[in-house]
Amino acid sequence: MPFGPVQHLAGTVRGPKPHNEPVRDYQPGSTEALELGKELTRVAGQTRDIPIVINGVEVQGRPTSEIRSPHNHANVLGNLAVAEQSDVRSAIDAAMVARHDWSRTPWWDRLSVFLRAAELVSGKYRDELNATTMQGQSKTFHQAEIDSACELADYLRFNCFWAAEIFSDQPASIGGEWNYADQRGLEGFVLALTPFNFTAIAGNLPATAAMMGNTVVWKPSEKSALSSDVVRRVFEEAGIPPGVINTVHGSGRMISDIAAADDRLAGLSFTGSTTVFRQLWHKVADNIDHYRSYPRLVGETGGKNAVVAHPSADPSALLTGLVRGAFEYQGQKCSAASRAYIPRSLWHAIKEPLIELVEALPVGDVTEHETFLGAVIDQEAYQRLDDAIKRANALDSHTLIAGGRTASEEGWFVHPTVFQTEDPRAFTMTEEFFGPLLTVFVYDDSDWNTVLELVDSTGFYGLSASIYATDRTAIAEALGQLRDAAGYVAVNDKPAGAVIGQQAFGGGRASGTNDKVGSPLALQRWVSGRFIKENLNPATSWRYPYMGS
Ligand code: NAD
Repeated sequence: MPFGPVQHLAGTVRGPKPHNEPVRDYQPGSTEALELGKELTRVAGQTRDIPIVINGVEVQGRPTSEIRSPHNHANVLGNLAVAEQSDVRSAIDAAMVARHDWSRTPWWDRLSVFLRAAELVSGKYRDELNATTMQGQSKTFHQAEIDSACELADYLRFNCFWAAEIFSDQPASIGGEWNYADQRGLEGFVLALTPFNFTAIAGNLPATAAMMGNTVVWKPSEKSALSSDVVRRVFEEAGIPPGVINTVHGSGRMISDIAAADDRLAGLSFTGSTTVFRQLWHKVADNIDHYRSYPRLVGETGGKNAVVAHPSADPSALLTGLVRGAFEYQGQKCSAASRAYIPRSLWHAIKEPLIELVEALPVGDVTEHETFLGAVIDQEAYQRLDDAIKRANALDSHTLIAGGRTASEEGWFVHPTVFQTEDPRAFTMTEEFFGPLLTVFVYDDSDWNTVLELVDSTGFYGLSASIYATDRTAIAEALGQLRDAAGYVAVNDKPAGAVIGQQAFGGGRASGTNDKVGSPLALQRWVSGRFIKENLNPATSWRYPYMGS
């Protein structure tokens, strides 16, 4: 297929109808588990060099930092090249050079790259993506599969479909005019800064900006660089032209300093912590007088997600939602449950089973099938959680009811931990710890409406929430009172686990700009529309009829 700004079609193109990638089970002994097992061994046994790639060329001779496995930190899985300031400038220049042709390439040619990438993700590279995500980010078979294989393929396929709809959506034309929309990529480059906790998000942020006609400087998280490098190779093999996505590793602070100071910055696509997003917003604000255009700022950030149960809730459903919601992927999901509000009558029924369940959750090496929780991502996360547990333990208002143990000899293990608190405004109910730490506040059954007000007004975040109830009026009351408290609400389900194409995810307040990454709304942020009116019957007199002849 010709690449670049070459018109080679007569006819209207439609995006292929997307589907959600089926999730593989990886039952012990199954062919798929054995194949992935081989790949896990291969990935664990190698030390891969992870390069900076600018304009399609690997940059040589940079210092490196080690990538270690969180659940086995003696194992060095890779050496990550660390960028110098000049690399960031070269990456921006490369993006700006590539922009001319890429932004003028027919959109279906651009999208074909990402549709091909989706096939590579769900096929040829599936095992490598899952194995690097498991070894490098300590995800279990299931958690890796739903992220790096399924969600990444879903993002690519659904976004291509929605992008095609955006490009095809044309205005009405009435008598004597022809109106058309030209959805242009932004005028400049996009900086994509991605988090460690989802391989899919890491791939999606640079991909969405690029499919809409932009060229990108992508800084993946150093904590997930192993899987991000597989994503980079997937894009390359799928045919992304040099300079369209430039991958730069190193200090996020340094890279964003240089990008924010460049007058060609057109957009920032960020997912990560609230603190870092606010710093980035400040940097852009400080440079606002210098930009050629107003940079689009998209940030999906932290959460302190509540599970609120009504006395009518089904106790088994609530138990499952708490355990899965709080402890899957060690609580390292922006959408993880980390505070719960349980009525006293229900607490009597679920407290002991909850303790029993949590104490029995298998923690360990994610390559073992029975493991439910692996290690937290690194020493810093381990220390943060260890400190939080110690701080909570020291408070009279808190009772440790399950877990509370940490172990760092082999990997960064934090056992799933539950505190009960008498103080619903305590730090454990407001701060994001990004780990397997759940705090429960038990309320009197008659205080349902007061507790909803408490959930809404506690802390600064507004990402996700769960409501557990069988009483329809209670569900309506909770949805009403929590209207501004979360951008994603699950009724009788855990607050995590939104699926692309089914529930768009994102939140407001301190949790981000709520642009719903993984939806048509988010794609719209990466284009700047130009509308063209062609007058087929131009006026030839300046006089209007009301003026008479
Ligand atoms: P992080 O903020 O530490 O890092 C995100 C990215 O920013 C990384 O690439 C990192 O290297 C870079 N970075 C770090 N410090 C920087 C700085 N000072 N200046 C510029 N860049 C910097 O986040 P993380 O630990 O990778 O991810 C966890 C956070 O992400 C949590 O707060 C979680 O809630 C949030 N998250 C939110 C969503 C969502 O959809 N709302 C999804 C996933 C993760």
